[in-house]
Amino acid sequence: MKGVVSLTILATTAAAFEQVVLGQVDRGSEWTVFPHPIKRVAVIGAGPSGLQVAAELLEHNFTVRLFDRSPGPGGNWLYSEEYPTRESYPDTRLEDIIKPWVPGSLPHREYYLEGDDGLTLDYRWREHWQPSPVWWGLHTNSPTSITEMPDVPYPPDSPFAPHQKVVSSHVRAYATLHGLNVNDEPTVAYSTLVERIDKAGETWNLTLKRVKKIENVDLRTGAKQAALEAEWWQESFDAVVVSQGLEDGSEIARELEPYAKHIYVSSKDYDRSKLHPFRRRAFRRLPSACSVVAEVAEFRSLGNALNGIKDGKVVLKDGETLTGIDEVNIKLTYGCRSQLINASTRESDGRRRYRNVHWTGNYIPDPTLAFTNTRPWTTVRYQAYGLAKIWEGTARLPNEAELWRQYESARYTFFWDLWGTGRSEALLRQWVAWLNNESLQHGGRLVNHFPNSNREIFSYFMNWEIKEDYISYANFTDFEHVPAWQWGQDDLADALWHEDELEYGLW
Ligand SMILES: Cc1cc2nc3c(=O)[nH]c(=O)nc-3n(C[C@H](O)[C@H](O)[C@H](O)COP(=O)(O)OP(=O)(O)OC[C@H]3O[C@@H](n4cnc5c(N)ncnc54)[C@H](O)[C@@H]3O)c2cc1C
Repeated sequence: MKGVVSLTILATTAAAFEQVVLGQVDRGSEWTVFPHPIKRVAVIGAGPSGLQVAAELLEHNFTVRLFDRSPGPGGNWLYSEEYPTRESYPDTRLEDIIKPWVPGSLPHREYYLEGDDGLTLDYRWREHWQPSPVWWGLHTNSPTSITEMPDVPYPPDSPFAPHQKVVSSHVRAYATLHGLNVNDEPTVAYSTLVERIDKAGETWNLTLKRVKKIENVDLRTGAKQAALEAEWWQESFDAVVVSQGLEDGSEIARELEPYAKHIYVSSKDYDRSKLHPFRRRAFRRLPSACSVVAEVAEFRSLGNALNGIKDGKVVLKDGETLTGIDEVNIKLTYGCRSQLINASTRESDGRRRYRNVHWTGNYIPDPTLAFTNTRPWTTVRYQAYGLAKIWEGTARLPNEAELWRQYESARYTFFWDLWGTGRSEALLRQWVAWLNNESLQHGGRLVNHFPNSNREIFSYFMNWEIKEDYISYANFTDFEHVPAWQWGQDDLADALWHEDELEYGLW
C-alpha cells in the first residue's frame, strides 16, 4: 500500500507537564544549602537513565518512587507489538499540543467500557502509555561497550550492535537486580503517567494517572466484560529527577519508505559539509521516496476538515506549502514543549539541550529538581552517584551564583555532545575528579574512569559503521594532557564539531 504521504518534522523531545518553580535554596553560603533534608525522591521514567538513578538513590537509602507510563521497565527499549496512538493535526501552538486533562478534585477514578465516548479500550490503553518507537528489526547504532548497564554484562558472544531484544532483556535484567521491575511495588509505579509537577513551598507535588486493565462483572448476570480503570492522585516529594529520555528522529523515514508514496522530511537548512559525520550519515540514509524540505512555519487550520488531515496546509519557512498529507510525525524538542524550560529566566544560547541545567543535572535555581542529561546512557552512572551524594550531603553543590557562572562558562558543559568529542570527554573527566574529591572529603566510594578499552571498541565500531573518519581512540587519550583550565578554549573544540549538530534533529 503505497498511498500515504507523510511528513516528518525533526527536532528533539517533549515533556508533558507544567512546572512551577518557587523559591531559592541558596542561603548566602558558598555552597547550596537545602532548606530541609531530602528523603523522598520521585524519578520520572524507567528507561536506562531513570533506572540507574533510582537504583543509586535506593542504595543511598532514599525513599524512591519510580514512575513510568509504560507497563514495565526499559524505556525506549521496552519493545511492544502495540503502537502509539496518533496525535491530532497540530493546527495549534506547538506548546499546546499536549494538554493533560486532570479532574477538579483528587483522588479520582473513572471506569471505561469498550466504545465509551466512541473510543475503544485498546485506543485508551495505548494513548496512556504511548508504546516505544522501537521496531522489531532494530539493531543498535552503537556498540555494547557504550550501552552496557552496570552489574549486568551482555552475554560474551553478543554482536557489536545487538538486536533490540537483547538490549531490552539487558535493561530488564538491571531493573530486576535492583528491585525495580513490575512486581517491585511500592518502589515502582508502572502504567503511571506523571501529568503535572508543581512546587508548593518546599514540596514537589506530582499529579499522577494510572490506567489498569480490569474486568467488569455484571452483578445480576455474572457476565464479565473487559474494562479500564483510570485513577488520578497526588504524591509529594522532597526532590524530583526527570528521566524522560530524548526522542531521536533517526531512521524513521527509512521505515516508512515501503508504505509511503512520498515522504517530506522537514529540517533546518544545514550546510551538510559542516555537519558532524554521524549526522551527515543520517541524511545520506534518507530513502529515495523522500524530499528534504524547509522548516515548518505554520500548520494552517483544517477548516471543516471533510477529508481529515488531507485538508491541512503546512506552510514552510521558505514559502512553500505542502498539501494532501496523510500522516504527520512530529519529533519536537524538549525545549519546545516544556513550560519549565520556556519560562526560564535566561535565554537559550542555542548551545544547550536543557536550559538552566547545571552540568550535574541539577536545575538552576532549584537543585531539588534534576534532569538526566548524559549520553550515552553508560555515563548516567556518574550522574546518578552525583545526585545521590549531593542530596545526602556527601558532595557539595556550589551556590546559585556559582552554578550560573559555571553554566555560562565554556569549560563547564554537559553531555549534549557526541561521545568521543573533546567536550564530552572534558565532562567525564570532571565528573570522575569531582566525585572522587568529594568522597575523599565527605565520605563515599571512589569511582573509576570509564574504561579505555570500551572507548577503543567504540572508536573502531563508529569508524567502520559511519564509513568516514569520525573518531579516533586518540580523542580520548589526547585529552589526558589537557588541563581543565584549557577545556573551554576554542582551539580545543573538535575539528569535526559544528554548532548545528547540537540541534540533534536527524540521527
Ligand atoms: C528508535 C530509536 C533507536 C535508538 N537507538 C539507540 C542506539 O542504538 N544507541 C543508543 O545509545 N541510543 C539509542 N537511542 C536513544 C535512546 O534514547 C537511548 O538509547 C536510551 O533509551 C535513553 O534512555 P533514557 O532512560 O534517557 O530514556 P528512555 O529510554 O526514552 O526512557 C524514558 C522513559 O520515560 C517515560 N516517561 C516519559 N514521560 C513520562 C511521564 N510524563 N510520566 C511517566 N513516564 C514518562 C517513558 O515512558 C520512557 O519509558 C535510540 C532511540 C530511538 C527512539
